[in-house]
Amino acid sequence: MIHGKLPGLIRPGRMDSELLIPFEADDVLQNHSLIQHLTLAAKDAALLQGVLMRTKEEPSSSETICFAPITLFPSPVPKNLFDQACEAQQDFNVLIDRISMDPEFLKKALASTIKADEFTARLFNIYNQVLEEGITQSITLGINRSDYMFDKKHDQSACLKQIEINTIAASFAGLAAKVPVVHRHVMHVWGKPEEAAKIQSNSAAKEICKGIAKAWELYGSPEAVVLFLVERVSRNIFDQRCLEMELWDKNIRVIRRHFIEIYERGTLDDNKRLHVDGYEVAIAYFRSGYSPDDYHSEECWAARLLIERSLAIKCPNIGTHLVGTKKVQQELVHSGVLENYLPEYPKAVERIRATFAGLYSIDEGPEGDEIIAKAMENPEAYVLKPQREGGGNNIFGEEIRQVLGGIKDGSKRSAYILMDRINPKAVKNYLLQSGTALKLSECIPELGMFGVYIRSCNRLVMNICAGHLLRTKSTEFADGGVSAGVAVLDTPYFI
Ligand code: ADP
Ligand code: MG
Repeated sequence: MIHGKLPGLIRPGRMDSELLIPFEADDVLQNHSLIQHLTLAAKDAALLQGVLMRTKEEPSSSETICFAPITLFPSPVPKNLFDQACEAQQDFNVLIDRISMDPEFLKKALASTIKADEFTARLFNIYNQVLEEGITQSITLGINRSDYMFDKKHDQSACLKQIEINTIAASFAGLAAKVPVVHRHVMHVWGKPEEAAKIQSNSAAKEICKGIAKAWELYGSPEAVVLFLVERVSRNIFDQRCLEMELWDKNIRVIRRHFIEIYERGTLDDNKRLHVDGYEVAIAYFRSGYSPDDYHSEECWAARLLIERSLAIKCPNIGTHLVGTKKVQQELVHSGVLENYLPEYPKAVERIRATFAGLYSIDEGPEGDEIIAKAMENPEAYVLKPQREGGGNNIFGEEIRQVLGGIKDGSKRSAYILMDRINPKAVKNYLLQSGTALKLSECIPELGMFGVYIRSCNRLVMNICAGHLLRTKSTEFADGGVSAGVAVLDTPYFI
């Protein structure tokens, strides 16, 4: 244990919404030997707890592995904003589910996008095809993650603003559930048992697996398996393994395959049951399939179509996947849209709308022209977003001018949306990333709230908020997730 002259964690009289690091005192953050000592403890605890990733050098091997990137200290998160995100999650689950069942809305919302964006168009073709052929499976399993930042208001307090909703391959529930143990340990080693005790556990992996297990049960074939659709090379395999092990513990078999394997060895029987290598598939759980890179050949697209046509419960099905596009997110801000989907839940509408930042279509026309002119004039106030997932695709700052300048006179505009840029207050922390020198960074946390729901025909069988993920990145980067090597895993320290 390290003792020393350590100031108290939270200054008396602080307002809940102030976002100062709870361990801010510079003499602690600059105490190099203390930080080094805690860093070593944190890295070893991460390894012991299974907060792991495969390495960049050997991304397909589990022979050489590394701790997954984490913060040294948990980051301050206003408890009221965390609770707000948690409360809104069940509302978002219902909203996503209802939109996924409304082809007319999706067709209208995505009409201009699919003209400008080939990838979304191909997904949309599959959606149309399965609609025409008739939906085979009436059970839906949704696992999503709504991501937020804590926007700084004029009075310097913070409010919750949604960045996006991920309806496919919402990841890191497995590792996120293990990070609190690491941070509690760091606090103990630092000599802060009371603060360690304040760090809450996170049951994201367990809750998500409850949903998968329930859907598997509803499928009603005890021998059938859960299929994880994965990338051929997966550095984040341990996150997936956490869920797999949880399912095996419930006596549910799991297989892992990538699209090409499904193309080569997947078949549908007369009842449209999906079989792969002798296993019947109860659930097709997509941990890939959200990026054009995942469909590197026509065979991958054929595999996606095969799965969508099958009786397997898709997580997500193609309609729900499309609900997660940036374009649909932007369409939701129009007045009356939320009310249309949640007519009996006015409070849910309020909770959802309270989290919305400004989102704008830049489709051709006077409205699009006007917002483009504003963004060209003041690019720092906006983020330009293409219809892509996975981090590293958004456009910020001066580059917005360049990109908008290149596309403003044509239909390519519809491949993007504009969003108000959220400006959270930075906090100080150390980001522990393999091969990177230890340095005190100005950081921004992003809170993700997991939601799980199951619908069988028109009946909602499950609707839960299923734990959380906190990721933190340095203010040096505008964009980027954990997999992109920018953000790191974190734990909320409630203030
Ligand atoms: P992706 O699907 O690539 O994850 P996101 O919409 O989540 O796309 O954006 C990626 C990252 O860009 C976010 O994690 C966040 O760091 C940053 N970002 C996105 N939207 C905003 C915004 N409105 N204001 C500030 N930063 C943003
Ligand atoms: Mg994101």
